[in-house]
Amino acid sequence: MKILVTGASRGIGRAIAHAIARPGREIHVHARSIEALAETEELCRATGADIVRHAADLSQPSEALRLASELPDLDMLVNNAGVSGTERLPWDITPEEFDATLKTNVLAPFILSSAAARSMLDRGGFIVDLSSGAAVTDRADSADYWVSKTALMRLGGSFHEAGHDRGLKVFEVAPGVVQTDMTLSMRMHDGRSEWTDPSEVAGIIAAIADGELDGLAGTHIRAGVDTLDELRARAARGVGSGERRLRLTPWGA
Ligand code: NAP
Repeated sequence: MKILVTGASRGIGRAIAHAIARPGREIHVHARSIEALAETEELCRATGADIVRHAADLSQPSEALRLASELPDLDMLVNNAGVSGTERLPWDITPEEFDATLKTNVLAPFILSSAAARSMLDRGGFIVDLSSGAAVTDRADSADYWVSKTALMRLGGSFHEAGHDRGLKVFEVAPGVVQTDMTLSMRMHDGRSEWTDPSEVAGIIAAIADGELDGLAGTHIRAGVDTLDELRARAARGVGSGERRLRLTPWGA
């Protein structure tokens, strides 16, 4: 099984790469520089998996395209690399800042998912997007980030609708609130004392890689809220067409 985890140099991406690494698996880890991946490689190699490092700045579409072309036959793609928002009110965000967040958080996953999906159709494969509560809520600041995560989730929905019948399994996985460089840099988390353990999101994504959650393809999963046992039971039961999707809510709901 050949798996790419973007943004695996630290934080949640490193935890995911480690959790899915098994003997017989080829784990491709990515960040902006090869050097930044040294610790992740060491950690994952100890599991017996084969590890390959890739560098690409995903704020540059040409680099995302190059990374996609390096891996034409993935079995699983984890779109984890991402940047946080500006933490300013919408009218104080510059078009350049807005565009930069969207390029890394949406355009790059679009490029990587498109390439991966083309090779997975009728062969089978998994695409996992690192979603967020931001995908399904409104907030006054950081419109660039909130918009990016909503768009990413909608993109996942498109891939699901287009490819599920042909073997594509797409998951939106929100990690809870994990203490990482990203959250530590955000004012909204100042003084926070409760964090989601990264093993929760990594465990869910490992279960996806093992095929245990196929029945939940196309849904939004929330680490820190959904337990693996519940998710396994729901996967066996199957989900209704409107469950855990981004949809119009009725008045008064
Ligand atoms: P993090 O600690 O800041 O790590 C971000 C990762 O993305 C790093 O490996 C970084 O690599 C990579 N990255 C950033 N900009 C990049 C670029 N332009 N090109 C290529 N790689 C880039 O973040 P995290 O908290 O682990 O978040 C991981 C994902 O989970 C993100 O998509 C985030 O939106 C999502 N998320 C996190 C939380 C949370 O509680 N932490 C909550 C909701 C959603 P280098 O800097 O080494 O290149």
